[in-house]
Amino acid sequence: MRLWHLFLEASLAAAQLYQQQAQTPLQYSTPCALLAALFPEQVVNPGEEGYAHAQEKYWSIQQAELIPACRFLPRGARDIQIALADVIHPSNASIAISSGGHSSVTGASNIDDGITFDLSDMSGVNVGDMEETVVLGPGARWRDVYRTLQKQNLTVSGGRVGSVGVGGYVLGGGFSWFANQYGWTCDTIIEFEVVTPQGEILWVNAGHHEDLFWALKGSLGAFGIVTKIKMPTLPNTVVYGGALSYEQPHFPLVCNALKNLAARAEDDLTTQGYLSFAWLQAEKRFEYDVYLINTEGQSSHEALAAFEAIPHLGGQLSTTTIGKSADDIDRSNPLGFRRFKFTLTSTLSPSAMTAVHDVVKTFTENTKFDPTGVVGVTFQPLTSSHLKAQKNIFNLIPSHGPLLLISVELWWNDADRDIYFSGKANKLQHDLEATLKKLDAFHPFIYPNYASREQNPFATLDPVTMRMLAATKRKYDPNDRWSKIVPGSTYLN
Ligand SMILES: Cc1cc2nc3c(=O)[nH]c(=O)nc-3n(C[C@H](O)[C@H](O)[C@H](O)COP(=O)(O)OP(=O)(O)OC[C@H]3O[C@@H](n4cnc5c(N)ncnc54)[C@H](O)[C@@H]3O)c2cc1C
Repeated sequence: MRLWHLFLEASLAAAQLYQQQAQTPLQYSTPCALLAALFPEQVVNPGEEGYAHAQEKYWSIQQAELIPACRFLPRGARDIQIALADVIHPSNASIAISSGGHSSVTGASNIDDGITFDLSDMSGVNVGDMEETVVLGPGARWRDVYRTLQKQNLTVSGGRVGSVGVGGYVLGGGFSWFANQYGWTCDTIIEFEVVTPQGEILWVNAGHHEDLFWALKGSLGAFGIVTKIKMPTLPNTVVYGGALSYEQPHFPLVCNALKNLAARAEDDLTTQGYLSFAWLQAEKRFEYDVYLINTEGQSSHEALAAFEAIPHLGGQLSTTTIGKSADDIDRSNPLGFRRFKFTLTSTLSPSAMTAVHDVVKTFTENTKFDPTGVVGVTFQPLTSSHLKAQKNIFNLIPSHGPLLLISVELWWNDADRDIYFSGKANKLQHDLEATLKKLDAFHPFIYPNYASREQNPFATLDPVTMRMLAATKRKYDPNDRWSKIVPGSTYLN
């Protein structure tokens, strides 16, 4: 008999004893009730302490408004294994998996009527191997990871925004300040602990279950629930960077500086940046910002000087750390909006960036925003050196770089206008795609971490990768359980 069976029996016996003492009939009328019997302190129902608070932490209001029948807070892989085997599979209950809750896809990490597996209690940050590696719980947020690691003067190639969760970020790829050096964050992972759709707990790495190890990198939870993530640490040296803001007439110069920054990445792996512009309805104007980091703390770096030399309205570059900059960027990303996000990829050229800007400008002229509405666009170069480090399912070809990752976000407040704004966003996506295709700048890559519900990142992968993923899925999820149990997940058809 396996250990967890013993544990399960003990838990059920305890629950029965409790019920007998309370002289109430034993009833597990719902999967949540059975879960609560098995894990008395780890299930929170609507109206109970902690439920509303957990719901409020979602990045988008549409996700926060979904009402799971209960939220289950596993403390480790074993809890998840028991829950799947004894509650979810027998009852065919539907679940959602939430690490940091920062997906903008409604239903990706929360669920109406089903059970949300809330991994926030699985947030360990444990340094090992003579400080060379760290094992992270998926429910940790990057700000907590950085705060814990900096006590030992360490950091990692992780998220650029403090409140983002480790789990979703890593499984969807992970674009960090160290991408030129080490690729996507998922490329740097040494080992995952995962509970497969069948309920097996596996440690997967380059030598064990290599197929699953590879498939997890970029597939956003399509292959099970990741419960631990082991990755290399880096020294927490000072970095140099920050935000600079510009006015519209200088936008073409900033686009050019971003292109030059990406072009020199082969020779300079340490400087990175992104460019955002946003229409702010409250102020009836566009704002333009870059965020730059030199990971070696070089203040007099040529690539940074090129941005500083363009007349700018405000902001400044200064000495900071990866953790502090993640806190800074967090402040410009408030919770509490309804949101729609989608992504596109193009070749990297100022003409593509200007064309995207023009389409978005026309969009703002034809859209009835809420008083505090926003449409924001971020351009992030995917440099050739970033693409060289590929050990994931994306299979992007370095010689195709540098590419430009484009993410577009709409924010609004009025729930009655959800259909209006999602229709508008779909039209904007269509117009941007058409414009990029006309310029011969369109690239089919769909970055999972920025994709909308309508964008399936698997759809544009090459046939060989798809065949390998399909074979991996047949091996670890032979009965195609996951797509039925986790309706909100991105899955292979
Ligand atoms: C303000 C902001 C800043 C961002 N900055 C960056 C950035 O710098 N770089 C970047 O690459 N991305 C960035 N993103 C995108 C972000 O990485 C994705 O939205 C990511 O999926 C969020 O992870 P999460 O754990 O917070 O989200 P969740 O909403 O909890 O999860 C996202 C998806 O992953 C699945 N999932 C989560 N945990 C697990 C797990 N343990 N096992 C299996 N499946 C799981 C969920 O089911 C869901 O489908 C940002 C997003 C926001 C909102």
